[in-house]
Amino acid sequence: MNDAGSVAEGNQHNFVRDIVRQDIEAGRTESVITRFPPEPNGYLHIGHAKSICLNFGIAQEFGGRCHLRFDDTNPTREAQEFIDAIEADVRWLGFDWGEHRYFASDHFERLYEWAEHLITTDKAYVDDQSAETIREHRGTLTSPGIDSPFRTRSVNENLDLFRRMRAGDFADGQRVLRAKIDMASGNINLRDPVLYRILHAPHPRTGTKWCIYPTYDFAHGQSDSIEGVTHSICTLEFEDHRPLYDWLIDNLPVPTRSRQYEFARLNLSHTVLSKRRLSRLVDEQHVEDWDDPRLPTLRGLRRRGYPPEAIRDFARRIGVTKRDNTVEFALLEHCAREVLNRTAERRMAVLRPLKLVVENYPADAVDHLAAVNNPEDTAAGTRQVPFTRELFIERDDFMEDPPRKFFRLAPGREVRLRYAYLVTCREVVKDAAGEIVELRCTYDPDSRGGTAPDGRRVKGTLHWVSAQHALPAEVRQYGPLFLHADPGANADPFEHLNPSSRERLDGCRVEPALTDLAPGTTVQFERQGYFCLDRTSRSDRLVLNRTVALRDSWARTLQRRPQQAGQHARRST
Ligand code: ATP
Ligand code: MG
Repeated sequence: MNDAGSVAEGNQHNFVRDIVRQDIEAGRTESVITRFPPEPNGYLHIGHAKSICLNFGIAQEFGGRCHLRFDDTNPTREAQEFIDAIEADVRWLGFDWGEHRYFASDHFERLYEWAEHLITTDKAYVDDQSAETIREHRGTLTSPGIDSPFRTRSVNENLDLFRRMRAGDFADGQRVLRAKIDMASGNINLRDPVLYRILHAPHPRTGTKWCIYPTYDFAHGQSDSIEGVTHSICTLEFEDHRPLYDWLIDNLPVPTRSRQYEFARLNLSHTVLSKRRLSRLVDEQHVEDWDDPRLPTLRGLRRRGYPPEAIRDFARRIGVTKRDNTVEFALLEHCAREVLNRTAERRMAVLRPLKLVVENYPADAVDHLAAVNNPEDTAAGTRQVPFTRELFIERDDFMEDPPRKFFRLAPGREVRLRYAYLVTCREVVKDAAGEIVELRCTYDPDSRGGTAPDGRRVKGTLHWVSAQHALPAEVRQYGPLFLHADPGANADPFEHLNPSSRERLDGCRVEPALTDLAPGTTVQFERQGYFCLDRTSRSDRLVLNRTVALRDSWARTLQRRPQQAGQHARRST
């Protein structure tokens, strides 16, 4: 199912970049200015990353700049915690807004003046109807709306009422300011949209200064104009808002004229990308927190070990179009493998240990063998791996009665222990229950480094660790969060949650050279995959998250559920 490869080559289509290039070539745009406009009411996810890479990427490519603009017009849902987290995540992704950090709330005074401007020019009015009535009278796609009885108020009365709205004379919801456009417009967004509402709620930045707040439509476009944004890039659901965006620019004394362009939002298979659903996953404890490695949040991906470079590469490969589609999670994994293969240091770890005793190796000897840190990067050098009489190998690497294509260890068979020696299995030790507890082997002392002195052919190469030196570790492996490729298409996406999206392996053994690495570092465990030291990892108790397996395992995981029962200290939580 690896269709990742077919999308892998080159830049995919990006029509927004083409528009900017044409604008620059034709002299319509001197210096491009874009913005990334998050609402600080949650954590960023991979969908936001698409928008960040698009906005900052275009600014970089054409020598312009990209602003970070917090769209903070809903004080009840917003918090400083989210502002800080968003900034940290954008930086982590590798982008810098320099001094161009703005808040829609920075512009509240100017927006207020412009609202008065619309009133004075008879393009806005105060409506006393309830939100419910306004909604009911808005009409439908096939029937026009109904004019508010307050639509014909005089300019002076409107000004007076609007000033009293600001002064706090009215309760929440008692009045709104609406643009006076056209209640019969074919575009419902033009049927006298609400520009201001009353909300007696403190704001994370403006405190109690305001009790009226501009709506998204009024704040967004005007913030673009104030900041000189040339290309205001948003997702497709705002396409029908564009006529309103333009109407406001046409009817206000704005300093610059910005244009809105819409692109298709990212949908990723087997997960959800909406703050509402992500919060539900956290609130209902389907996951641990916003940085749970199963979540498609940037914090989750980071904790899982995804390098920012892989996410940027993913954004480049999926391209930017106007057509909605769903991207396979496997593509994101493919991007992670590509980067990590180049950058991650190799280590050996045994996830389900089986003891192997080398009978002809002295009990107190230790051989320090050189192991390559990264075959893709000679600068990464080598490290020493201790070899001793008692080792651990992977339980799956031994079979008592192997099928024909099994080239790993079996009774009487010889294999290579990576970087070390050739060993032959002489005896299988079982406990009373018949479970294999130990393999007795012999090694060829002349095969140091793993080559047979007589050139005899040895097919299998296994990873291993020294029982005496290995460190205990917990390894967490992750599968898809949802078993349905497009959970959002179901009435209740949560019915399709994968009950075993996380598998915790206790009692894993890793080579000692893992303590040299800081939490957050991703390594490759040879023959297994990429693993990232969790933020809770301690040198005496390592915790690692599997970023991604070496090869695409999605097709298999999704076919073979529930996961095959494993006997070895395996907990599914
Ligand atoms: P959500 O639906 O997750 O709540 P949102 O659009 O309400 O997202 P905002 O904070 O308003 O969240 O988003 C900031 C920017 O990120 C917007 O320009 C928005 O269009 C963009 N964005 C959000 N989700 C996606 C997505 N899935 N794909 C591409 N861009 C997205
Ligand atoms: Mg939004």
